[in-house]
Amino acid sequence: MPTLQLHDTLTGNKRAFVPGDPKRVTMYVCGPTVWSYAHIGNARPPVVFDVLFRLLRRTYGDEHVIYARNITDVDDKIIEAARDLGEPIDVITDKFAAIYREDTGALGVLPPTLEPHATEHIGEMIDMIARLIESGHAYEAEGHVLFAVQSYERYGALSRRDREDMIAGARVEVAPYKKDPADFVMWKPAKEGEPGWDSPWGRGRPGWHIECSAMAEKHLGEIFDIHGGGTDLKFPHHENEIAQSVCAHGGKAMARFWLHNGFLSMDSTKMSKSLGNVKLVHELIKDWPGEVLRYALLTAHYRAPLDWTQKLLHTSQKSLDRLYGVLRRIEAKPAAEVPETVEAALADDLNTPKALAALFALAGAANRAETDEARQAAAADLLAGGHALGLLEGSPDAWFGIDALSEAERAEIDQLILDRTAARQAKDFAKADALRDELDKRKVLVDDGPEGTTWRMG
Ligand code: AMP
Ligand code: ZN
Repeated sequence: MPTLQLHDTLTGNKRAFVPGDPKRVTMYVCGPTVWSYAHIGNARPPVVFDVLFRLLRRTYGDEHVIYARNITDVDDKIIEAARDLGEPIDVITDKFAAIYREDTGALGVLPPTLEPHATEHIGEMIDMIARLIESGHAYEAEGHVLFAVQSYERYGALSRRDREDMIAGARVEVAPYKKDPADFVMWKPAKEGEPGWDSPWGRGRPGWHIECSAMAEKHLGEIFDIHGGGTDLKFPHHENEIAQSVCAHGGKAMARFWLHNGFLSMDSTKMSKSLGNVKLVHELIKDWPGEVLRYALLTAHYRAPLDWTQKLLHTSQKSLDRLYGVLRRIEAKPAAEVPETVEAALADDLNTPKALAALFALAGAANRAETDEARQAAAADLLAGGHALGLLEGSPDAWFGIDALSEAERAEIDQLILDRTAARQAKDFAKADALRDELDKRKVLVDDGPEGTTWRMG
């Protein structure tokens, strides 16, 4: 298996990935705040890190990889949503956590090993905050506990920002109780009617950044292998996670590799809930197979931006039609090993566009193969390569919507298509058109592609 190379945002270079312990490979990815539906931009991190999770499992063995993706279930937006909808907070968070699992599942995302919930780790957060106060990295002020950024020399190293940038970028509240305007909140008082927990600093609730530091420490240890998230999380979220964890752990690095996925735009404008130009996964999966959405997300390198358009969806569907078309003609079981071309592309900092191109090369090889054995071998490689990307996991018949047809119905349609092809070759266009009408009547969609004619149910 080729050596995995990953780009690390903190050092800014791509280097060989070496886990601290190959029997316990650890990855943490910041998960959703469960107050509403996820949009397709929010789905990019779970899909990208799912490809990495699958690769790590192949390399180190399923049981040796621990992937934690948290659920943020206490947050201002959740409190607002609960108020607006007139529902208790846990009803909202349970509902949207379940929808998140369903939506990402429809995109072929495997469940992570662990899904720690913030509200189940309040004790760990209080404990970490207390340690930071004790070591002089944090202070209490008016029921708040703040992290003192001046106490951590390397603050800003991940996002490469200087102090002024950070103060402006974080839009940090200039509050009278802060010793420095860049200091950030780890604990804040809960107002009447808001969720709160007792703490040495009064009844309150945690800030977002301390949640991830405490949950990562508890489940993955002081130093873990990979920390991932979207590029917007570099600052302030990850910068603050690093400050808290490094200072709580006597200066030890938090993660060996920091990975950040690029942003998704829509028709060239940043996709974000505040701009109102979002496509919800929950809605998209009503119109498109989840696999098309996953394929579309993987057409760009994870660090590059990706523009989400109707055209991208159509070409992704056509691409999958071609791959499934091959598998429909050549019945095969996945090869035991992922083909070298696909694995090498993925090992090169998860180059998914190159891995998809490798799938097409295998599809071409399957079509051109002159012996049954070679055809089967190429199709088996195509399947194994597809699975590495979380693609081609369904049956070709299900893909083309024909799994509900009887053998006899299928044979009839195949015959109509053969007759139509023959009529076209004989330039008997009247007959070809009549056969086409008959196929239309049966709701059969015919696609005359470079590898021959395929059909599906409309
Ligand atoms: P949020 O719900 O805004 O906390 O986002 C959840 C995850 O989705 C984070 O990892 C974000 O970095 C990521 N994310 C949000 N918007 C986009 C986008 N347009 N493109 C890619 N990732 C995004
Ligand atoms: Zn986080």
